Amino acid sequence: MSELEFVEHWIDGAATSGAGERTGPVYDPARGVVARRVRFAEASDVDAAVDAAARAFPAWREVSIAKRQQIMFRFRELLAARSDELAAILTSEHGKVLGDAAGEIARGLEVVELACAMPAYTKGEYSENASTGIDVYTVRQPLGVVGIISPFNFPAMVPLWFFPIAIASGNTVVLKPSEKDPSAAVWLARLLQEAGLPDGVLNVVHGDKVAVDALLEHPEVRSISFVGSTPIARYIYETASRNGKRVQALGGAKNHMLVLPDADLDLAADAAVNAGFGSAGERCMAISALVAVESIADELVAKIAERMARLRTGDGTRGCDMGPLITREHRDKVAGYLDVAVADGASLVVDGRDPDVDGDADGFWLGPTLVDRVPSGSAVYRDEIFGPVLSVVRVAGYEEGLALINGSPYGNGTAIFTNDGGAARRFQREVTVGMVGINVPIPVPVAYHSFGGWKDSFFGDTKAYGPQGFAFFQQEKAITSRWLDPSHGGVDLGFPRHD
Ligand code: NAD
Repeated sequence: MSELEFVEHWIDGAATSGAGERTGPVYDPARGVVARRVRFAEASDVDAAVDAAARAFPAWREVSIAKRQQIMFRFRELLAARSDELAAILTSEHGKVLGDAAGEIARGLEVVELACAMPAYTKGEYSENASTGIDVYTVRQPLGVVGIISPFNFPAMVPLWFFPIAIASGNTVVLKPSEKDPSAAVWLARLLQEAGLPDGVLNVVHGDKVAVDALLEHPEVRSISFVGSTPIARYIYETASRNGKRVQALGGAKNHMLVLPDADLDLAADAAVNAGFGSAGERCMAISALVAVESIADELVAKIAERMARLRTGDGTRGCDMGPLITREHRDKVAGYLDVAVADGASLVVDGRDPDVDGDADGFWLGPTLVDRVPSGSAVYRDEIFGPVLSVVRVAGYEEGLALINGSPYGNGTAIFTNDGGAARRFQREVTVGMVGINVPIPVPVAYHSFGGWKDSFFGDTKAYGPQGFAFFQQEKAITSRWLDPSHGGVDLGFPRHD
C-alpha cells in the first residue's frame, strides 16, 4: 500500500496531509483494485480548514462583484476547456462511462454559468419615501464560512451545485466530498485557484463521520449543504439545526415512472432504459420503479428487455453503455435484492448477475436487471437499491399508479408518460414529488430553476441552486434610512409608524 498515491486535503490554497493518521481506499471500480488512498481528516484538520476559510472571509466579501464575476467567468472557461481531464478522473474513481461523466460535468458547468450571473441574484430592493423622507431598502450579504458535504455518485456535479453560488455570493467554503471518489473535488479547487480565487476561499477536507461531525459542530460554520442518503440527510438536518446552522439536506430517492396506455411505448421503453441503467442506476434521479398500467405492461416489458439486450456493460473508457458499481460491497448488496425479488414472487425478466463484460474480471460488475410484477410490499420496491435494477409494478390505471407514487416516503423525482395532456396536467397537480417529468424521465431542472425533492428526499426549506440556492447562501438585511432633516426632530416614545 505504501507506494500508492494519497489524495490530500486542500487547505488555504495548498495540498496538505493534515494531522490525521487514518486513510481510506479509493478503488478503480472497473478493475476492482485500490488505486490510491485518501486522507481522513480528524477534527483538528477540519478546524484548520474552517480557520483558513474564516481568515479568507473578510477580504473575500470585500472583493467587488465585478471581480468575483471575472473569476467565475475564468473558472467557467477553464472547466469547459479541461473537462476531458475531469471526466477521466470521474470514470477512474466512480466507474461511470466517459460520456456520462461528460454529461455530469456539463450539468455542473450550467451552475457555474448561473454563478456568473450573480449580480442579478445579489441585488437588493429599494423603496423610496416609504414614510415621508424615509427610504427602506434591503441588501443581501454573505453568511461567512459555509460547509458542503457531497455523495459519491456525482463527485463533480454535486459540489458544483453549491460552491460556485456560495463563493459568488461572497462566502468562503469548506467542502467534504465523498471519501469514495475524492479526487474531483481537489481538481476543481486547484482549477479555481488557477482562475484567480484567493487562497482559503475554497477548502477541501476528506474523510468520514469524524470530519462531517466536526463541520456540523464548528461554531464558525454558518450553514450546511448536504446531499446523500436519507438516514444521513436526516441526521445532518437535525444535528446542524440543533447547532444553529442553516441547513439544506437532500436525501435518497425511489423515482417512479408512470406509463399510461396511450403513451408512445417505444419512447417510454427508451426512457425507462436510459433512466434506469444510466450510471448503473447510481443516480438520485434514476428511475427505479416503472409503474405500468396492466393493459400495456406485457408489451412495454418486452420492449424494455429487447433494448437491454443491446446494452454493453464494461470499462467506462471503452465506449460501453454502463460501467461498474462503486464498490464490491455495494455490488453484492444490490445483487442480494434479486434473491429477495424471487422470494417475494416477482419475476426476473433479465438477470444481470453474470454479465458479459468488456473489462477486467475483478471489476464490480452487475449487468442491467429487469424485475416484473414486483409486489409493492417487497423491499425490492420499497428500498432505494441504487443499482441497475428496474422494478416493474403493475397497476389497473392512473388512480392506482398515483396512489402508489404518493404513498412512497420518497419524493425526489417522478415522470409520467402519456399523450393525454389532461392526464399529465392532473398528475403535475396531484403528485407529491418535488420534480416532475412529463414524457421526460429524468427531470433535473436547469440551473436557473432550483433542485430539490419533497418528503424524505429533502430536509430543509431552501433547495439547491437557482434562485433558492442564492437565497440559501445570503442573508438579507433591511435598512430604514432618514437623512438629517430638522423638521423630524422631537421626542416621541410611540412605536414608529409610517405616514
Ligand atoms: P451517503 O449518505 O452514504 O454519504 C454522503 C456523504 O455523507 C458522504 O460525504 C459521506 O462521507 C457522509 N457520511 C456517510 N455516512 C455518514 C455518517 N454516518 N455520518 C456523517 N456523515 C456521513 O451517500 P452516498 O452513498 O455517498 O450517495 C448515495 C446517496 O445519495 C443515495 O441515497 C442518493 O439517492 C443520494 N443522492 C441524492 C441526491 C439528491 O439530489 N437528492 C443527489 C445525489 C445523491
